[in-house]
Order: sequence, then C-alpha cells, then structure tokens
Amino acid sequence: MAEGNRNFARMPYQTGSQLARVPARQQLLKRHNLSLVLRQVTASRSLSRAQLAARTGLTKATVSTLVDALMDARLVVERDPERGFIGRPGSPLSLNPQGPSGLGMEINVDYVSCCVVDLTGAVRFRKTIVSGNRLLRPEVVLQRAVRAASLMWRQADAAGLTVFGLGVGVPGLVDFDGVLHRAPNLLEWQGIAPAEVVADMLGRPLQSLYCDNEANLAALGELWFGIRNSLRDFVFVSGEIGVGAGIVIDGELFRGVQGLGGELGHVTVDPMGPACKCGGRGCLERVAGREALLEAAGLPVEVSPDRNRAGSVPELVARAQAGEPTTLYSLEKAGTALGIALSAFLNVLDLPAVVLGGFYAELAPWLIGPVTSELHDRVVNHSWSPTEVVVSSLGAEASVRGAAGITTRRIIDDPSAWFPEILARA
Ligand SMILES: [Zn+2]
Repeated sequence: MAEGNRNFARMPYQTGSQLARVPARQQLLKRHNLSLVLRQVTASRSLSRAQLAARTGLTKATVSTLVDALMDARLVVERDPERGFIGRPGSPLSLNPQGPSGLGMEINVDYVSCCVVDLTGAVRFRKTIVSGNRLLRPEVVLQRAVRAASLMWRQADAAGLTVFGLGVGVPGLVDFDGVLHRAPNLLEWQGIAPAEVVADMLGRPLQSLYCDNEANLAALGELWFGIRNSLRDFVFVSGEIGVGAGIVIDGELFRGVQGLGGELGHVTVDPMGPACKCGGRGCLERVAGREALLEAAGLPVEVSPDRNRAGSVPELVARAQAGEPTTLYSLEKAGTALGIALSAFLNVLDLPAVVLGGFYAELAPWLIGPVTSELHDRVVNHSWSPTEVVVSSLGAEASVRGAAGITTRRIIDDPSAWFPEILARA
C-alpha cells in the first residue's frame, strides 16, 4: 500500500550508491523476489525453505540465497525443525520479533495512545493517556504524546528493539503528504504535519514517517491484525466524537484522490436536521456521534476523560443492558442513521462487509439490528448478496495498531527499499 503515501522520510533505494553497480533489471528482479519471499513468510508463518520454493515457483537455491539475505538483515529467523514429521523435517521460517519495529501514536479528542509493534505484529509496549485535547494547542498535545512515546522508546531500547518508523493517527482530514487540513473536533489543528512535528520533538532517527486519519489507520489495523484474515474488502466505521470510515478494497486502503475520503460522519441523514461543525446540516455525526448519542440518551454531553463517570460509554452500555427506554430509543435512532449513511456508501462502492469499530464496537449488540435492517431495505444488491455487519476485533486499539503497523508493513512489502544492503547479498 506504500505507493499511495508519499510522506516518506526518505527513499533509500533511490540513493544507495552500492545499487548503482547492480544492473537495473537484475536489481528489480531481486527486489521483487525478496518482497515475494518475505510476504509468504508473513502469510504462512511456518514455511521451510523447500516449501517456500514450491509456493513461490523460485528454485531452492534462489530461495536459500534470499532467505539468507533476509536473515542477515534481521527480518527473518529460522527455528529448529519441528518433530513428528515423517522424513526430514524442514526448519520453519518466521518474521524476526527482534527485527525493526514501528511506533504508533493516536491523537484523539479525549485521549492519546502510543504503542510499539514488532515485525510479527505483536504489541510490545502500549500506553493510553486520557487528555481533554479539544481546546488545547497542537504543540501542547503533541508534547504530551511525545513524553509517553519517549518512555516507550526507551523500553524498546532496553528490549533490544530498533524503532524504525512512526505512524500517527488524527481525527481529521489528512492529505497524501501527511498534512492535517482540518479536524472539526480539534479546533486549532489546521495545516500541520503531525508526524513530522512528533519526529522533531522525539529527536531520534526515524526512517519512515506517516500520518493519516484515525479511521483509515483503524481499518488497516483491522486488516493486518484483526482475527478475520479473510476480510479484504470492507468499510471500517470508527465511532468516536466524530464518525469516520476507512475503506479497504482488495486489501488496499482507498483514500480518494487527495487522501481526504471516508468522511462518513458528514454524510447527510436528515436534510432538515441540526447544523454541524462542518458547515452542513443533518450530518450522521449529529445523530450517531458520541456526543449526540449521549445527549439523546439523557446523559451529560461533556465527554469525561474518566470512563467510569456518568456520561461515559460504559454508562450508556449499562443503561442499555438494564433496558432503559430512552437509551434503547437513542441507540435505535443512531443505528438507523448509521444504516442509512452506510447504505449510500455501499450502493456506490459495492463492499461485502461493514466493521463496527471505536465505541460502536461496545454498542454493537444494540446497533447491529437497526443497521442491518436499513441495509436490507436500502442496498440494492442486499437480497442476493447481503452485507455482513461485524464487530472490530481490536476495539479501541485498532487505530494505534494500524499506525504502528504502517512501518512494519512497508518493510514487509518492499524490504530492499528500506534495507538496500540486502540487494547486494541476495
Ligand atoms: Zn457535518
């Protein structure tokens, strides 16, 4: 997916002097084969060299050379042969958990999250800080996030991990250059490149920088780390203060022409509805965003950083479980609005699945019914190809996991772009 994201810190394969000595076609072929082998190791997790050769169509000798190069770069490890096989068992290959890792950060309206994931996708360190960010200047919020990330980076150092790149998710419109143009619920955040600001504040070397909308990164988190490996075409709906959507088609994030797509929260569900911060009227967010839902349920609209206080989502869940009529009605109304907005999306995009994420995951027992009912009535292909509505398996972590995973997935997709010395050995 790296092609669509141009905010690289650098593109080493364009400048590596040792590559100039390798004929261009041969270099391209090696680069392709390294990527092919590493992606197979990622997908299957326990292939031997012989099985890799069979799977890729490359010769055993070529596979061995490529695997050795990937092992030298600390991207792949070879474990001891598994016992219990008839004949000579192969040594299974897997991604190196001590290889390069990614730092992820999610800035949202009322919290900041950071995590470090290793090359296998495992979360090695994580931290979430509750923080009322709505009225704060960006540099204040980012300093707060950087303090948490710095601590995490030191923990990664102590564990022998190399943090290779940074991904940042924000609740707003981010273009392909990583510039946040507008965040309706973070009032002073306009025209800044959050990943670059964070990298400067961290003051440590980073080879890869990326910034995107939090719903896009949550969709990628679900795609890469969710429990449903077969889910490759879906729209991820991120319910936060705002409502975002990340669209995944054939395993790739679709961001629109400028990178600014997926603004499901500002799809009109009631042309005569209340005014929205975006300048429109009757937007989905004004019916099914977190504040609108709390208000409709008769709970305090101010969002408490303490999730145990009244007004928080757990309180909403508790009231729904108790069958409180106002809460149930507001959830029904929100689910209906969500279903109407999603129907417009799905009639245009023809996607087979909706993933409910963010706080919608917690409210899914009460939302899936009205959402599915609207899809049934409004999506034209629903009668022979019904859209599946599923719940995010990563919950509140989806976005920060996707942000951290950007780095490791870039490496897996094209290892020699980031470690050009591999080409000389392959
Ligand atoms: Zn709006």
